[in-house]
Amino acid sequence: MHLSRYLKIYPSPDRPDHYLLYSTRKGSVVRLSADRLDAAREGALTDAERETLSRLEILIDDPAAEREAMTSLVKRANARSNRFYAKVVMNLDCNLACPYCFEDHFRGRHYMSRDTARLMVDYVIREQIGRGRDVKLGFYGGEPLLTLPLIREIALPLRDTAADKGVKFSFVLTTNGTLLTRTVIEALVPLGLTGAIITLDGPREIHDRQRPFVSGAGSYDVIVANIKATFDLIELQLGGNFSRYDYREFPRVLDHLIAEGIPPERLGEVQFAPIMPKSGRTASADTSACCTSGSEPWVTEAAPFLREEILKRDFKTMKPTQAACAIEFDNDLVVNYDGSLYKCPAFMGWPELSIGSLAGGTTDYSVSHNLDVWKTDECLECAYLPLCFGGCRLMPLMKNGAIDEVDCRKAFYDATLERFILQDLQYPSSPSATKETSPE
Ligand code: SF4
Ligand code: SF4
Repeated sequence: MHLSRYLKIYPSPDRPDHYLLYSTRKGSVVRLSADRLDAAREGALTDAERETLSRLEILIDDPAAEREAMTSLVKRANARSNRFYAKVVMNLDCNLACPYCFEDHFRGRHYMSRDTARLMVDYVIREQIGRGRDVKLGFYGGEPLLTLPLIREIALPLRDTAADKGVKFSFVLTTNGTLLTRTVIEALVPLGLTGAIITLDGPREIHDRQRPFVSGAGSYDVIVANIKATFDLIELQLGGNFSRYDYREFPRVLDHLIAEGIPPERLGEVQFAPIMPKSGRTASADTSACCTSGSEPWVTEAAPFLREEILKRDFKTMKPTQAACAIEFDNDLVVNYDGSLYKCPAFMGWPELSIGSLAGGTTDYSVSHNLDVWKTDECLECAYLPLCFGGCRLMPLMKNGAIDEVDCRKAFYDATLERFILQDLQYPSSPSATKETSPE
């Protein structure tokens, strides 16, 4: 047997001469002494040790078969998939005026029409529910709650048809949180609402500068009041966009939520991310506060710092896990307000990346989206492949104007993954934590 190539080995901080072996494929961690690690490398483990390490996908039978399994993993996941997920852009309008909004170049008073909404409902019933797939929609904007009646008109027939056909239907909202009142949630839960993703860009003074209402007034207090009034109804996930100049202040927003009586365990995952340059243009020199590559040194410092601050306060956050860009998944779609179809909402600034329309169906996007971009020796032999699959396609798009290369996350993971794994071991009560196993 052989050690998997999708494996990272780190020194165990609290036990000299021991190592932590982390499978990026399985998300498993095991602690081995230097002696047993040598035995694993030399094929001299006991049967029981072999059995445990194989189960954790740390030991494998055949390196060629492992590589082939990774090459075909997305294809097999697509063949097995029995669910459809669409982000539905209800409008490109907003009651906030965030200066960094990635939709800035194409935002405006553009709203989905009732005809387009009907076309979408027909499409989902015919192509997805009709084929026995569970359906989850993510209403998106602009600000989706500016279009509340149309959300109801879409959700109601889908909920009823799904129930008739014996498949599941649910939806979530990606919202700025200013209109997410208890009344709104109580009206939407019976139609299938299960959660919302809300944005707080740090403590009040930073958030209000970055996410003011169109009038110029701050939105922080309204959003916190809405979170406080609704966290018991649905799962509220919290996001936030930081810059290199303000990320150290972000933990204060978590303290404020706790002080307001919002229990960390009652919220969904909290995840802060660097501000991205605006969509539809290649990144220019005016983006010094933004993230044009996940591997920039300030991002590799900010990400573990913020993750630790989240976990320390008993909030949930994402753990490193097998993940690929949404463009890889056949049954993931973005429906724009005008019925045009995309694979990622950030691509809406590049009309040439539209993959079709509700009326005309989808076209083959394998070349325009360079679907095999990660199927190279370098990626297939890279320990980070299961976490990365070529990274975010928006990065080369912004840099080069085309998806012509991977967004290599190697420097990011080299700088952060060990800290992420140790954080998960240090905060084992977090539902997102990696669990350590010891075969000794
Ligand atoms: S391009 Fe980036 S933002 Fe868009 S779906 Fe892929 S990973 Fe996500
Ligand atoms: S893009 Fe970079 S980090 Fe990702 S799998 Fe390929 S080589 Fe590894």
